[in-house]
Amino acid sequence: MTNPLGVHALVWVGGTTPADVATAVAQTKAAGYDLLELSLHDATNLDTAAARRELEDAGLAIACSRGLAFDADVSSDDAAVVERGARLLHDSLRITHELGGRHFTGALYSALGKYGAPLSSGGRANVVQVLKELAAEAADLGMTLGLEICNRYETNVINTAADALRLADDIGADNVTIHLDTYHMNIEEDSLDGPVRLVGERLGYVHIGENHRGYLGSGHLDFDSFFAALAEIRYAGPITFESFSSAVVSPTLSNDLAVWRNLWDDGMDLATRARTFMSEQLQRHAGA
Ligand code: MN
Repeated sequence: MTNPLGVHALVWVGGTTPADVATAVAQTKAAGYDLLELSLHDATNLDTAAARRELEDAGLAIACSRGLAFDADVSSDDAAVVERGARLLHDSLRITHELGGRHFTGALYSALGKYGAPLSSGGRANVVQVLKELAAEAADLGMTLGLEICNRYETNVINTAADALRLADDIGADNVTIHLDTYHMNIEEDSLDGPVRLVGERLGYVHIGENHRGYLGSGHLDFDSFFAALAEIRYAGPITFESFSSAVVSPTLSNDLAVWRNLWDDGMDLATRARTFMSEQLQRHAGA
């Protein structure tokens, strides 16, 4: 297996100004990663041409992620709110493409936050309709979409792998893949290996995060069973380390994700240890 190993930009910087991106690219490279994941939550300062040049010079791949917002949410029943969400998705897909990325993933189907009621059937139909159109546009660009499964406190649309597979079936496009995140799985799934087997070849992106989103291996997650299952399904896609601390904050995303605690200060120490942890797991289960 030769999975590209990635790191989320919030391990390094909170924003996407040219200086932030330059730092994130340099640190990602220095820590030995293959891929940088950039959240497009707050991308108004992003210089896509400069960022693409820096990524190419560093030999790094890029993936972009985002969630929507309660006033721009494709799972809403309100047509104007859905339209604003669809526009965010369309713009973010374009930015990902301009950066040279092939994966656009995240909570592409709802806001990131605590909903006060279950998803409505009309809201679900809006998700399906918007993501059908986005998937067609992504296919024309040679790109895949990822449906990141998030826990109940961050979405009411898909909380389990089974939910995500049903949604992907209804969207009905080959380039709509499933994105598993061990942090969310710990809250919602029966195990860390069962969902990997259930998703199988439809797995397109992976987030590795501890139960508290701090140092890998310092929490209680059973990464052995997760990586064994990835090997079993011969997953060859990106595996990205995701971790958040109050030491590095985004003015928007960090609050959406409830990043209140200081779990680390030294992003380089965190990221280099995480890379070693993930490589050792991949080696341990290679050829299994
Ligand atoms: Mn994630």
